[in-house]
Amino acid sequence: MIELDKVQKWYGQYHALDCVSGRVANGEVVVVCGPSGSGKSTMIRTINRLEPIQGGTIRIGGKDIYAQCEDVNALRAGIGFVFQQFNLFPHLSVRENIMLSPMKVAGMSRAQASDMAQGLLAKVGLAHKIDAMPANLSGGQQQRVAIARALAQRPPVILFDEPTSALDPEMVGEVLAVMKQLAQDGMTMMVVTHEMGFAREVADRIWFMDEGRIVEQSTPGQFFSQPEHPRARRFLADILRPGVAACA
Ligand code: ADP
Ligand code: MG
Repeated sequence: MIELDKVQKWYGQYHALDCVSGRVANGEVVVVCGPSGSGKSTMIRTINRLEPIQGGTIRIGGKDIYAQCEDVNALRAGIGFVFQQFNLFPHLSVRENIMLSPMKVAGMSRAQASDMAQGLLAKVGLAHKIDAMPANLSGGQQQRVAIARALAQRPPVILFDEPTSALDPEMVGEVLAVMKQLAQDGMTMMVVTHEMGFAREVADRIWFMDEGRIVEQSTPGQFFSQPEHPRARRFLADILRPGVAACA
């Protein structure tokens, strides 16, 4: 579903992605982890065509997304993206936030889009908040609305960039639970997160990045019991040290 082949990304002189290759199969969940500055956000942004690349190819569903002829807006609309910051439109209700893309991009009628919003909100456990304004929701609820909004595009793939990092700790679980449900429903997902419990439980594969490279691609079993790369071993030792908040 997602194929990265020798992707090169430079920010000026800085080599942010160095020959990054990897594949995510249909229905697979890949958790991307690694130290701060290792290129996780950059990689995920290139998959959504938010960043130009200078070498290699990225395919989604077999389609080269950097091919000249591709319509960038249509491409982006076809890939779900959930950020650390929820970015809901503050002047629109929850329902309208979710209806926006189906109406504008997919040309759905108001009635259809509203029905869809209702169904998706039920899925993320927020049917009762359909007419609330974002400001009146908790961070965890806002992030669940953001997930519903991403789903409204019916994307084949959803990319998550640290979806729980901006949340108070007591709200992390409700968002991870929604993501776990999506994974169980068969959604193809790439998730940048430091939530190693989620990685262990939900990921099919873990990609560990360091200095712009994917230095390890393992199953959670391998990764947590016998990480191959010394940098991965150090990362796990730091992040799993009891009593130390997981952050990077
Ligand atoms: P991560 O998400 O793993 O913390 P990023 O992908 O955000 O890492 O960043 C990787 C590296 O690229 C960092 O050194 C960062 O400073 C640099 N970088 C990220 N975005 C830009 C940008 N727009 N311009 C220049 N350098 C950038
Ligand atoms: Mg990042």
